[in-house]
Amino acid sequence: MELLSHHSLRPYNTFGMDCRAEFFARVADLSALLEALQWARQKQQPIHILGGGSNVLLTADVPGLVLHNAIKGIEVVDATAEDAVIIAAGAGVTWHDLVMWSLQQDLGGLENLSLIPGTAGAAPIQNIGAYGVELKDVFEKLEAVSIEDGQLHTFSNADCRFGYRDSIFKNEYKNRYCITKIYLKLSKGAHQLHTGYGAIQETLEAMGIRQATIQDVSKAVIYIRSSKLPNPAEIGNAGSFFKNPEIEIDRLEALKEQYPHIISFAGTTPGYAKVPAGWLIDQCGWRGYRQGDAGCYDKQALVLVNYGHATGAEITSLARNIVASVKEKFGIVLSPEVNIW
Ligand code: FAD
Ligand code: NAP
Repeated sequence: MELLSHHSLRPYNTFGMDCRAEFFARVADLSALLEALQWARQKQQPIHILGGGSNVLLTADVPGLVLHNAIKGIEVVDATAEDAVIIAAGAGVTWHDLVMWSLQQDLGGLENLSLIPGTAGAAPIQNIGAYGVELKDVFEKLEAVSIEDGQLHTFSNADCRFGYRDSIFKNEYKNRYCITKIYLKLSKGAHQLHTGYGAIQETLEAMGIRQATIQDVSKAVIYIRSSKLPNPAEIGNAGSFFKNPEIEIDRLEALKEQYPHIISFAGTTPGYAKVPAGWLIDQCGWRGYRQGDAGCYDKQALVLVNYGHATGAEITSLARNIVASVKEKFGIVLSPEVNIW
């Protein structure tokens, strides 16, 4: 294990924040991870696990040890079933590479999750989701090392308590485990397509495709995402900054009297409706707003961006102002989806 001190995290977070880790180590296998955890325990240093840094906002230099998870490897672990295959991926595998690998093998289930940045190991943390599909739909189990004592544990789908962009690892087990491997169950042969969400169907039609394959769905998703989301390699961002709020149906009905065009979808809890946070922010006039290098993206108001040298404090200040104006106009309190360090 190579231990670096005062190491720049700029290349390791998609917001492009210029913060440093007091100590930094890249761990490429289980033994390096255990060695790093032991070092931190002995030195009584706090530990922060970092994957692709696409869901974090760094607001200051990070004290203690930042562990960059780079455990690679994709394998088929069980191909005995007729209609499905169990695969395993190291936590440091790039998520989109895993999706592309699955499509090359003609394995289905991940196509709607194409082009999501980050690593396989972080995917369970917020139960990544897009276009009507969530990780939990294909998730079998994961392996994780306890940060406290270095013991290896297995968590089933039920153990992870997945919710809407949520899991046990964002709640009771926050910062307590380092995920090392995930296992997914992917379809072979008869794939179930999910094309009814967002612009997938119309994009497939525009592509001249009538009988779509999983590869076509992936291409459509990649096309849509590339046309409306900022590429972090060009403009710093961490995707959706806020979660879509869920409000009681009664409150939605009351809001509809004042805002007849309010957009809503069924919530994850009965009696609740999901209101797109991007729509609320847009209605408050923030879309395209920029102060210095901190801004609200003009093609999707839910994405806060760093045009160059914005600081974490400038982004959080913008976020606070957005939260305040959405609360004032709609009485809805937005909460961040991004992990603020
Ligand atoms: P990081 O940002 O490195 O870490 C995120 C959190 O997970 C941190 O708290 C970290 O400590 C923890 N963590 C990371 N790896 C591990 C591990 N191995 N063990 C334990 N804890 C760990 N998300 C969606 O759900 N759907 C989308 O469609 C989507 N689109 C996006 C589009 C863009 C342009 C961007 C920039 C982001 C988008 N995201 C989306 C958010 C982000 O890509 C996902 O949340 C992704 O899973 C984060 O992976 P990461 O490896 O970058 O995690
Ligand atoms: P969009 O299609 O413009 O839709 C706006 C919002 O409406 C989304 O947040 C989505 O909720 C919701 N929505 C749209 N159609 C829906 C339907 N048929 N049923 C239920 N909810 C519906 O969104 P977008 O910004 O282009 O993003 C497309 C997809 O990629 C979304 O699923 C979004 O979550 C995902 N994405 C996530 C991130 C992130 O960082 N988390 C970043 C970019 C894109 P949901 O968000 O619940 O799907």
